[in-house]
Amino acid sequence: MNNRINRLRQELTRRELDAILISQPQNRRYLSGFSGSAGFLLISKQEAVLATDFRYTEQATSQAPDYKIFQISGSLAAWLPELIANLGGSNLGFEDGHVTFALHQQLSNTLKETKSGLSLTPVGGLVESLRAIKEPEEIELIAKSAEITDAAFEEVTDRVQPGTTEKQLAWELEKSLREHGSEAMAFEVIVASGPNAALPHARPSEHQIQPGEPVVIDMGARVGGYCSDLSRTICLGTPDDKFRQVYSTVFKAQSAAIAGINEGMSGHDADALARAVIEEANYGQAFGHALGHGVGLAAHEEPRLGPNSEDTLRNNMVFSIEPGIYLSGWGGVRIEDLAVMDSGRPRLLSNAKKWKPEVSS
Ligand code: ZN
Repeated sequence: MNNRINRLRQELTRRELDAILISQPQNRRYLSGFSGSAGFLLISKQEAVLATDFRYTEQATSQAPDYKIFQISGSLAAWLPELIANLGGSNLGFEDGHVTFALHQQLSNTLKETKSGLSLTPVGGLVESLRAIKEPEEIELIAKSAEITDAAFEEVTDRVQPGTTEKQLAWELEKSLREHGSEAMAFEVIVASGPNAALPHARPSEHQIQPGEPVVIDMGARVGGYCSDLSRTICLGTPDDKFRQVYSTVFKAQSAAIAGINEGMSGHDADALARAVIEEANYGQAFGHALGHGVGLAAHEEPRLGPNSEDTLRNNMVFSIEPGIYLSGWGGVRIEDLAVMDSGRPRLLSNAKKWKPEVSS
């Protein structure tokens, strides 16, 4: 974790901050290794302290050896004064994207009452941008997570029959993910068939899957805290012309993005590679979400690949490439793979079977 703390400290210097209070759970885990569900990190140029309550002090001691463990109890006003007593400096950063209004009030009141001389500076997104560039061990965990997802997807969809409900299929996928070694779901498994597939984030229903319908499956494992994210659209029985046409368009859009994305490109330009293909087929309005997103300790994180994204794609970023077309009343198609930017080009981490339409241009 020392390397991560050092990178954070460089950012503190650059932004003229004396210390930062980390409260966002994945950021806390990223910087310390501590996977408990409660606590704060206080990192200054000299010190790194992990403040957590008695339920977690033992776990914190073993998971976060680079940190001094500080046991807290009760409200922030009860323990913050002691935590910051020797901090010095005047500028304390906090994660404004995560700190609630109530917590912010407690923080600022306590700082005032203790006459600490510290003022609060919002620095949301700072750790998130460090997290966007993955270390080799992180890429390994995501690759493992993707491998488990591929295996579970193939095992279950190889034997699924028409008449199965979306809920049954989702549960089979969830069980298989766990059996293959996933420690949790990256997010709730999505199975959306027929008209339900027109909703990008549909919840599995009692709908029985019919032959010929599009079935969108979106699932992800978690390994060592790291997520994967995979979508496939399948069809039980023979796909009709409509399915072939929509599916081929999404397939071509995804292929264009995979072939065209490279290091230094903006999230906007990456998205445009796929969007152009879908627009050309007159489905532009039906691709209502972004092309992709970063994946790591969170299932959705930086970078963003979308029409409004100014993020720059860098080596060792891990992100999804997932164009889709959604047609109300009919259904939808989404194809999603996970990629790592490796020596300037995306290298796919997911390899689950994908129906390949006959190429017609
Ligand atoms: Zn995704």
